Amino acid sequence: MRNSRVLAALLLAVLAATAGCGKEGSPPTKGPKPEDLPKYQVDSAFSLPDSGTWNKAKRRGHLIVGAKEDQPYLGEKDPATGTYSGFDIEIAKMIGASLGFASKDIQFRTIASANRETALQNGQIDYYVGTYTINDMRKKLVGFGGPYYMAGQDLLVRKDEEDIKGPEDLVGKKVCSAAGSTPYQRIQADYPKATLVAYDTYSICVDNLLTYQVDAVTTDDAILQGYAAKVPDELKMVGKPFSQEPYGIGVPRSDNALRFAIDDALATLEKDGTWKKAYEATLGLSGVPAPTPPPIDRYPAS
Ligand code: GLU
Repeated sequence: MRNSRVLAALLLAVLAATAGCGKEGSPPTKGPKPEDLPKYQVDSAFSLPDSGTWNKAKRRGHLIVGAKEDQPYLGEKDPATGTYSGFDIEIAKMIGASLGFASKDIQFRTIASANRETALQNGQIDYYVGTYTINDMRKKLVGFGGPYYMAGQDLLVRKDEEDIKGPEDLVGKKVCSAAGSTPYQRIQADYPKATLVAYDTYSICVDNLLTYQVDAVTTDDAILQGYAAKVPDELKMVGKPFSQEPYGIGVPRSDNALRFAIDDALATLEKDGTWKKAYEATLGLSGVPAPTPPPIDRYPAS
């Protein structure tokens, strides 16, 4: 009984991930449609001589942007084409356009949660857009444009789970999160009686949840709702966020010129409706209407 359920769950997960459709008979999972995505006006006259990062990208001829590749509606890489899509990807593209780079001149690189700071510090990427929470500890290592979205930590459980209604119910339960993430750190600090399991990515955690290796997956609601939408018959979100996770655009810490340019671009794109259009064509497909973006935190150079 349990084995066949596990098999069914696995099959579903594979189907959803590869074909983007639900179980036989259920409607296909909606994915971002390229024709619904906004086109971004490339500011060809843009120049940012004070930014080392921008100068380097101009010389190179393209931007290198860090992202996630396994977070539905946020940052997903099509294994067949290598194309990235999702809300974070659109944010990266609209900012790229404001900095003078067309979408075709952005190369995305997958960087896991635990490796973001080093990737920015080593100059492997010009900026990072991938569910990256702004906080004071990280601000010591990198700079943050934005925030451009406010998420909150939540829990993903199997559909038939009745015991876990919030983080306080995790005593003695196995809970999975990504190494180096704020949700991982919060469980470790505030709910030490939970048994924490860490992987590089949340999709591995979700596989572990579907195969009964763990009892819950914890990270931001924005991420979890994408996984839940892919296998709605098997998974559900608890739905009571217990933190605030303001998403920022990571930049090298010393490049204040780039950070301020990103803040300026974001303010314009939020005002002229571009942000909302991008949201509706991506993250909005998981069912949550476009919220008002959080205020931009243009903190002074230090
Ligand atoms: N927003 C959280 C963080 O930055 C969780 C999501 C992630 O790992 O990207 O740590």
